[in-house]
Amino acid sequence: MRKQRALGHLCRHIKACCHCSLHESTAQALCGEGNADASLFFIAQAPGETEEKVGHMFMGPTGRVVDQLFQSVHLSREEVYMTNLIKCRLPGNRKPKMVEIESCGFYLDREIEIVKPRLLVPMGYCATRYLLERYGLTHTPAKEQIGRLYVSGSFLIYPVRHPSALLHNPSLREELFRDFERIPHLCGGALNLPDHISH
Ligand code: SF4
Repeated sequence: MRKQRALGHLCRHIKACCHCSLHESTAQALCGEGNADASLFFIAQAPGETEEKVGHMFMGPTGRVVDQLFQSVHLSREEVYMTNLIKCRLPGNRKPKMVEIESCGFYLDREIEIVKPRLLVPMGYCATRYLLERYGLTHTPAKEQIGRLYVSGSFLIYPVRHPSALLHNPSLREELFRDFERIPHLCGGALNLPDHISH
């Protein structure tokens, strides 16, 4: 309940935020959602057009991929926490600028502090880069970060591809579903992946 209240308070700040120019072009900022006590925490890049319209995480075609991924490992949306690195929609779904990441990253940091998850799963390049830089884990080249497990204090970071990548490149499906298969084991503490662990 305390965590839920803290997230609600943070969400009110996000909805009223004008720390970067994205607030001028977005219809609404999107807060994280799901279980405030979750041990599993997903981070996407930013809301897309449908998410912005509906006001929820992972809607439309990307949402259908996420639901299939969750179903494949017997997870429900209610069990996990889901959020974005950037809370306002990026015009034309472009990559976020450094100034936008620097302005908005504070909210993600706060969400992690409040939820205190066991496993952080950044989806795609921008969320992965932010988290690895934030926790001083930048020793692996970008192309080797997906599917690798990082340990930082009391939690783990496990980057995967962004589900929307499958919409443009269906050949990535097998890799993404295979990487997802490991999530329940990692979340349960079975760190049985010595060749993929980085400190
Ligand atoms: S993107 Fe983040 S920092 Fe920028 S206005 Fe939206 S909530 Fe604020």
